[in-house]
Amino acid sequence: MGYYFAPLHYISGDIIVDGVKISDMKPDDVRRKELGNEIAYIPQAAMNALNPTMKISRFINDVMRAHGSKLTDKEIYDMARERFESVGLPQMVLDKYAAELSGGMKQRTVIAISTILSPKVLIADEPSSALDVSSQKLVIRMLRQMMEKQYIRSMIFITHELPLLYNVTDDIAVMYAGQFVEMGTAKQMVFDPIHPYAKGLMGSIIVPEEGIKTHQLTALKGTPPNLKHPPAGCRFADRCPYAVPTCKAMAPDMKKFDGTREYRCLRSVKKLREIYSNGEQQSTGNSEDELEAVE
Ligand code: SF4
Repeated sequence: MGYYFAPLHYISGDIIVDGVKISDMKPDDVRRKELGNEIAYIPQAAMNALNPTMKISRFINDVMRAHGSKLTDKEIYDMARERFESVGLPQMVLDKYAAELSGGMKQRTVIAISTILSPKVLIADEPSSALDVSSQKLVIRMLRQMMEKQYIRSMIFITHELPLLYNVTDDIAVMYAGQFVEMGTAKQMVFDPIHPYAKGLMGSIIVPEEGIKTHQLTALKGTPPNLKHPPAGCRFADRCPYAVPTCKAMAPDMKKFDGTREYRCLRSVKKLREIYSNGEQQSTGNSEDELEAVE
């Protein structure tokens, strides 16, 4: 696609949106036909993306023109006002410069602008990081409203803020060292994670309940591997409390279980569930028969 630069490089895979393989398209065609209309992206620190020399309405006008809009300036302004008001942003935002808006308001403004063309997919990369809790809540509420009103048809929400996930997503995919390690519905992933890393991740959520003051969170030992030279076996092996010797030699593939769920581990779901229910902290053995087939 030409959208990556060294040291990034393409190894494999396609990007297909609604049946169109955009990874085969030329960058100009992607920009003209796909970006904004089909896919919108909210980068990290999106609030800094606003041009400080333009009023918000002018910025929106530029976006619409860049995507070939034939509407008049007034029609674009009226359309933007209607869209902003429908997601809780007052009209006066359109007549302000970025510097006149708070951080949370800027973030919501960028989200509203990014989705002004009603894309099929919104990729939101940490859209609520660097915001205070009240602003986070407003951002999440706004994204949900946009889904309900069909301004965006689907969303990939990338975050480290796990408590948000259950409220925002239908499905959760957990990544470790550049690979998916488990995928399932939000409910399955939060209440019944299977992969040892997903299990540790979900266990790191602090729930405000009785005894929270004395509640000890368990940290994972070690650090993620160097992805320039990823290990030959399981990428989580050096940190996994349930690793067996084979884990360092054999790289696990994603495997299906419980019908639609998937995980990447050499150990069976049955064995992992057994370990978790016994509250075991370390591997219970190293025999190959523990690495039984999943289904
Ligand atoms: S393959 Fe081994 S090291 Fe990797 S997650 Fe499973 S048990 Fe842990």
